[in-house]
Amino acid sequence: MRMNNARELLSSRTGPKTMSFDGSAGGPTTQEIVAALAYVPHGLGHELLQAMWWPESGQRRREQLRQAVIALVAPEFTRQMHELADARTHFGIAKASMGWCGGTVTDAQRRELRRAEKALDDARAAAWPNNTMEQLGVLAGAVIAEMVGACECDRCGGRKVLPDPAGSGVVNCGDCGGSGCEPLSGRKRAGAIGADWSAYSRFWRPVYEWMLANFRAAEARAARQFSKALTMTA
Ligand SMILES: [Zn+2]
Repeated sequence: MRMNNARELLSSRTGPKTMSFDGSAGGPTTQEIVAALAYVPHGLGHELLQAMWWPESGQRRREQLRQAVIALVAPEFTRQMHELADARTHFGIAKASMGWCGGTVTDAQRRELRRAEKALDDARAAAWPNNTMEQLGVLAGAVIAEMVGACECDRCGGRKVLPDPAGSGVVNCGDCGGSGCEPLSGRKRAGAIGADWSAYSRFWRPVYEWMLANFRAAEARAARQFSKALTMTA
């Protein structure tokens, strides 16, 4: 069963809307769909599958979705904060070590200061906004809405790849970044998270895109597991 069929099936819940020629409804029953869903390991993908394709069930599982989102994002945020704190510490040490207690400043100390300063700048540039955790609900809502509303990419038609102009193989589609979905504009994303465009592009874009890529991967994995389970139970 193709993954998209599995998603459509989940949306319709009671199996395909079309009746077969002999008048009986084909495809799995709601019970079989629920049983197949139980095979999908718990976690973000499981929750996204329901939030996106079975909103009634998703409504009842808001708490599980909240926990799964936190379990994904919080460790990465904490890792960045630690990296930033370490870089700040090392920069402070490098500064203090320049001519420590009246000694002469050496070339090695100057090099170390430049290195530490650059590392601090890099860590600052890579770190998500300080209030990322406070905005997590808004961010997750906007990312899920983008995933639900995603249209197929115009350029590749959702195939994610294009024929390689230089050879006989294929290359990732540049327009959609190999996701197969038309990305929302920065302005629309900014609107969805209640920020203006410049705040989105300066501060929020990295965390938004990171969440979108990870949510997509988790949902696609869950959809594969669901569709495999349906084939087994049907
Ligand atoms: Zn594309």
